[in-house]
Amino acid sequence: MKKLMLCICCILLLVGCAPAAPAPEADEGRLRIVATVFPAYDFARAAVGDGAEVALLLPPGVESHSYEPTPADILAVQNCDLFIYLGGESDAWVDTILTAVQPRGETLRMVDCVDLLEEEHVEGMQAERGHDREGHDHDEDEHHEEPEEDSHGLGEVTGMDEHVWTSPANAAEITLAIGERLAELDSARKEAYRENAEAYAAELTDLDQRFEAFFDAQPSRTIVFGDRFPLRYFAERYDLDYYAAFPGCGTQTEPSAATIAYLTEKVRAEQLPTVWYIEFSNHLVADCIAEATGTQTAMFHTCHNVSKAEIESGATYLSLMERNLEVLQQYFA
Ligand SMILES: [Zn+2]
Repeated sequence: MKKLMLCICCILLLVGCAPAAPAPEADEGRLRIVATVFPAYDFARAAVGDGAEVALLLPPGVESHSYEPTPADILAVQNCDLFIYLGGESDAWVDTILTAVQPRGETLRMVDCVDLLEEEHVEGMQAERGHDREGHDHDEDEHHEEPEEDSHGLGEVTGMDEHVWTSPANAAEITLAIGERLAELDSARKEAYRENAEAYAAELTDLDQRFEAFFDAQPSRTIVFGDRFPLRYFAERYDLDYYAAFPGCGTQTEPSAATIAYLTEKVRAEQLPTVWYIEFSNHLVADCIAEATGTQTAMFHTCHNVSKAEIESGATYLSLMERNLEVLQQYFA
């Protein structure tokens, strides 16, 4: 964080001394939109069509929770017409930027577009401070409250789960909200923004119904992740009974023996064929549980961020979630 503040100070100094910046509306009145994380970028890109430019700050392949903005990123935030961010831990650094520099344009938070759910610690999940307690039994505490010191100034979002985009129904709502904001900002293209957003939202709603039909056809809705679990909204939407090694945005990678034992027993008791892990994971925990239970592992893409190969091949939130449905059809039961 010190590095980030230093960075902001340097920029403020440079901007202060520099000759007048070039006119912001240099591109024939096209809006300039900046998004922090991939889902925000994807929904904005769908809503704008070719009516505006959308930039993604988080580089492909970077773990979204460990990202720090560059000076160029901070300038991009300051100078864009619409800055879209999540409003959670994944982009907690945004608060620091927004209090230090005055953005020229408007801001939109994804967490303000949908109903929020509280972060949940389910049975067997490693508590957030598990390392400090060396695997004592109270690691298994249910409904562990987030301590006040975790607050990063985002007020109402503290203690709420930020991974709102993981439910395709939420993704549709966020896309529509972005389309509406664009229509307000650029009335000359308002019809196009609304139509684009509605078209993408319709595809997301269709996908939502396909997930629902898939899970409706399953005799059991239990799923075990030997990994972090940023899929609270997805699980809530489709009524899944989930078990996981860690909550959504934790930085821990080594669960206690008790956590591994609990998940292993759950896979055996429910006779699950698959232990799941998420993108950019080393999947060691999932491998370990799968080996102990003679099961397989599979990856569920939570769309926090995409790899370089994925973005180059034109991956979208929709295509990644469609791929998730295909993998579920193959590995879930
Ligand atoms: Zn996260």
